[in-house]
Amino acid sequence: MTVQELFENTFGLSAETTSFAPGRVEFIGNHTDYNGGDVMGVAIDKGVFIAASKREDDEIHMVSTISDEVVMRRLSCLEKPLEGNNSWTNYPIGVICSLLKRDFNLPTGFNIAVASNLPVGAGLSSSAAIELSTLHAIMQLNGFDISKADMARIGRQSENEYVGIPSGILDQGTSSFGKEGSIIYINCKEEDFSVLATGKKLSLWIFNTDHKHSLVDSLYGQRHQECSEAFDYFKKLNPDLESICDLNLEVLQEHENNISLNMFKRTRHVITEHRRVHAVKEALNESDLNRVGKLLLGSHRSSQHDFENSIPELDFLVDTLIQQEGVLGARLSGGGFGGAVMALTVDSFESSQAEKVAEAYKDKFGENRQTTFFNTYASDGPRSIQSL
Ligand code: ADP
Ligand code: MG
Repeated sequence: MTVQELFENTFGLSAETTSFAPGRVEFIGNHTDYNGGDVMGVAIDKGVFIAASKREDDEIHMVSTISDEVVMRRLSCLEKPLEGNNSWTNYPIGVICSLLKRDFNLPTGFNIAVASNLPVGAGLSSSAAIELSTLHAIMQLNGFDISKADMARIGRQSENEYVGIPSGILDQGTSSFGKEGSIIYINCKEEDFSVLATGKKLSLWIFNTDHKHSLVDSLYGQRHQECSEAFDYFKKLNPDLESICDLNLEVLQEHENNISLNMFKRTRHVITEHRRVHAVKEALNESDLNRVGKLLLGSHRSSQHDFENSIPELDFLVDTLIQQEGVLGARLSGGGFGGAVMALTVDSFESSQAEKVAEAYKDKFGENRQTTFFNTYASDGPRSIQSL
């Protein structure tokens, strides 16, 4: 069922507008964002569709293909996010709350239908896609003109403040600035976004492990904490230090014996990863995709051994992929502890080769743990869709 059909079946009329916003893949820059570093993301050709119309009252009615229930909220009474089965509605409502906080005038409520073609739980940021797609639809319905940077900030604000997830700007920044044939480069410290044309269309393959570590949230929090302890330690030595991304590897090495092994390894990952982000930018400028691929693999190895946010499934996919002809590099993409691997390949890399990787994964981890994969390219950001 298309999102427009879902809208018509639910609300008995046609949607006034239909928007799409892309999911994203973290191209490189693993855990550099909240450490005040740079990160590169790619908006992909899968994402979230929102069909919407204005209502005459102050009610917001929401339906999604993931749930049978139509959820109703009132514009005047949105303070509390919902819990349980209907908590998915916190994403569109969070956007509405952010708009209200920023003094946008919303005189009426909305009917909203949601559908997505992003795989669930693969870390491709369906949350940013639903936020930006909702925002885009509301902008169309109300004639709001909002810059891409502010769209990203509104999406992030709704996720941080309403949904309650302390995520960085990568997800919403990449979705908002997404552009065909381009990588989105984000300087997280300055919150500065640039769109880097890759020249050649990059062929990306996503392999989902279909597995998340049960402790993913607490492990993520632990890494966050370790990085912030490292920052406190080095800031005491150099009060001008703005982030551990700016630390010299030599300085870190001088202090190796004064800090815990974990603090040493986490910091080394962040420093070298930040360098790899810059090196990838340079290699892309020189159209040196072989070098980009090597840096992607270097990123994975650093995650695997220093940041320790990989899992055997991700390592296996990376190790198997890089043995295939035409794979330039591969790495875990996103927070880690599960999620997906992204591979950069030559154009001629085929489904039959990807199938082989999937077979090997099944042989290794058993029938109930299968990887799903797809090929994707850098795509445009939020936009209106005429008909599906
Ligand atoms: P990610 O952003 O990595 O995909 P998150 O946990 O941040 O994972 O966001 C996923 C949440 O976004 C889902 O649990 C759901 O609440 C919401 N969501 C995503 N897609 C849809 C959809 N099609 N319909 C309704 N809610 C959705
Ligand atoms: Mg998310």
